[in-house]
Amino acid sequence: MKNVPEMFGCNVFGDSTMRERLPRDVYKALRHTMLNGTALNPQIADSVASAMKDWAVEKGATHYTHWFQPMTGITAEKHDAFISPIGEGKIIMEFSGKELIKGEPDASSFPSGGLRATFEARGYTAWDPTSYAFIKDDTLCIPTAFCSYTGDILDKKTPLLRSMEAISRQAVRVLALFGKNVQRVLTTVGPEQEYFLISKEDYQKRPDLILTGRTLFGAKAPKGQEMDDHYFGSIRPRVKRFMNELDEELWKLGIYSKTEHNEVAPGQHEMAPIFTTANLATDHNQLTMEIMRRVANRHGLVCLLHEKPFEGVNGSGKHNNWSMSTDHGENLLDPGTTPKDNAQFLLFLTAVIKAVDEYQDLLRISVASAGNDHRLGANEAPPAIVSIYVGDDLGAVIHSIIEGVAYKQDGKKTMDIGVTTLPRIPRDTSDRNRTSPFAFTGNKFEFRMPGSSFNIACTNIMLNSAVADELMQFADELEKADEFETALNRLIRRELTAHSRILFNGNGYSDEWTIEAARRGLLNLPSTPEALIHYTDQKNVEMFARQGIYSYQEMRSRQDITLEEYAKTIHIEAMTSLDMLDKMIIPACIEYSGEIAKGVAAKMQIGIDAAGEKKTIEILTEKTAQLMTARDDLVEAVAREPSDLIERGLYQHEVVIPAMERARAIADDLEHRVAKKYWPMPTYADLLFYI
Ligand code: ADP
Ligand code: MG
Repeated sequence: MKNVPEMFGCNVFGDSTMRERLPRDVYKALRHTMLNGTALNPQIADSVASAMKDWAVEKGATHYTHWFQPMTGITAEKHDAFISPIGEGKIIMEFSGKELIKGEPDASSFPSGGLRATFEARGYTAWDPTSYAFIKDDTLCIPTAFCSYTGDILDKKTPLLRSMEAISRQAVRVLALFGKNVQRVLTTVGPEQEYFLISKEDYQKRPDLILTGRTLFGAKAPKGQEMDDHYFGSIRPRVKRFMNELDEELWKLGIYSKTEHNEVAPGQHEMAPIFTTANLATDHNQLTMEIMRRVANRHGLVCLLHEKPFEGVNGSGKHNNWSMSTDHGENLLDPGTTPKDNAQFLLFLTAVIKAVDEYQDLLRISVASAGNDHRLGANEAPPAIVSIYVGDDLGAVIHSIIEGVAYKQDGKKTMDIGVTTLPRIPRDTSDRNRTSPFAFTGNKFEFRMPGSSFNIACTNIMLNSAVADELMQFADELEKADEFETALNRLIRRELTAHSRILFNGNGYSDEWTIEAARRGLLNLPSTPEALIHYTDQKNVEMFARQGIYSYQEMRSRQDITLEEYAKTIHIEAMTSLDMLDKMIIPACIEYSGEIAKGVAAKMQIGIDAAGEKKTIEILTEKTAQLMTARDDLVEAVAREPSDLIERGLYQHEVVIPAMERARAIADDLEHRVAKKYWPMPTYADLLFYI
């Protein structure tokens, strides 16, 4: 038996290690910085750096890195050794406060969306003391924010921290109105991570998986997920060993990996951690994805984090469970038991409902990518329309507030009139609607649109900022009110009425919902470019400016980067498709039909008709010709891509992707017809049903 409590966090320079190793006053000053988000004084930094280095060196570390989250990709690191020369060819291991607080990576090779010309490529990284340093690969990793020298933010951590500050500021004001003296409100997040595991041997034979992370070809396997025998089913021994090692690696890094289980699709699994603050949850999820890949590799497996690695099989998402909690640990989305608590809960709930309605576009944008476009709206993940599920009971409460009528709970309970005239909220976490993109699950919201490979910072930035903005308006209005309770009731009723269109408890996968949502005026943004156009809409620019999150320039740069990433992804997919067609699939088809033809010729020489084989050759030859035409069409489609980013994205969505799909459909049909030994790559059955 492994000693898990001892192992947990052993590679993290966390609170207990700090308390142990730092002088008392330094520890106290650092804690103060961490809790209040204030600046760290340089002497303290020197002392912290030195203790951190000693600890890391004892653990075998030789290098340090400022670990940061650029606007694309997973995370970035630039490693520096601790060595410092002391003359006569000797060195000591050294690490100063200055090196801890600030690093200067060459920012020019990270995407900046035009924020920084290459000639002034310098950027700097600044330690985020609210996230602990940790050791990975003999390197001390210092979680940092990444900015340009002109002050523009070049990463995802800085805006996330800003959005957490914004929501805290406004929630504290709102809580004061309820007579609560709270210093800080934290946003809490628990991201459930889905992924696929396949065997490395198979992976290496598929250029599409290697270059694009998903299969661009592949006919349906005789068996898919229809037997429902994988979900929570027993786990393959090899996968079980992977999961055990993954847990250990994550625990060492202080990550609360809690649940590991199989998912719906064959080869698909999930890891759910226990929730923590939004910035830690983000850092931890970034690390989790990286560690998953590595541990898989050690077990002869490859971890696929793509949103849709296999057609006709469920894709992978990441559920972002989200709530707000005071520094005393009170969950603000927990309905509570007294009418006063309920009133407070309803006000926060109303802020979330209003935020999600007014910023549907931003939530959709936060999950927009070429990979996730395959999931959203494909009858397995939430649709591309944002709506909120509150369940029947809370739905009835909201209805009674809007209508101004008494609330009856199954005839048992009527309105509970106390401090306010708001009803009692039943606690009900049981009914879940899996088709809803944004579901209230008893004491938190679960946002189900993020894709499996996403950095959850984006989603939480949008959510925090939008809710902060609503809370700000509410606080402004209520602070001015003569009579708090009357004003509160009026506000809640007014806003729930105005935003009830976003509430939907029905089946999000149905065609009726698409029609109904359009009638309600909700946005339906099925593709990344269609979503991205809305990023810099006036209301969004104003909201981010009001909350001090992003400047217009910073938004433009993010918009461009996402569009560019989309365009590049589709382009690489198209080029990979062509490559596989030309080098693998078409030659295999020609070879196979040619081989049959040789046999037919031989048979005919000895007077055998071979009608069946002739027919097969005809079909194969005709389909191969169709495939060649589809291939030429794809070449032409790619050649005509416009240069403007938005036009290019729309064009790729409307022309290039369908051209790829047409070629794929023919190739997949041919896969069924060509003998296994001629088919140049592992099939879906090989990939999904390995031992
Ligand atoms: P499920 O049935 O979806 O597995 P759980 O209640 O077990 O639901 O939780 C799913 C995730 O939600 C876990 O990561 C959990 O830690 C997280 N979670 C629970 N409470 C909160 C909260 N207050 N804030 C954020 N995340 C939470
Ligand atoms: Mg869940």
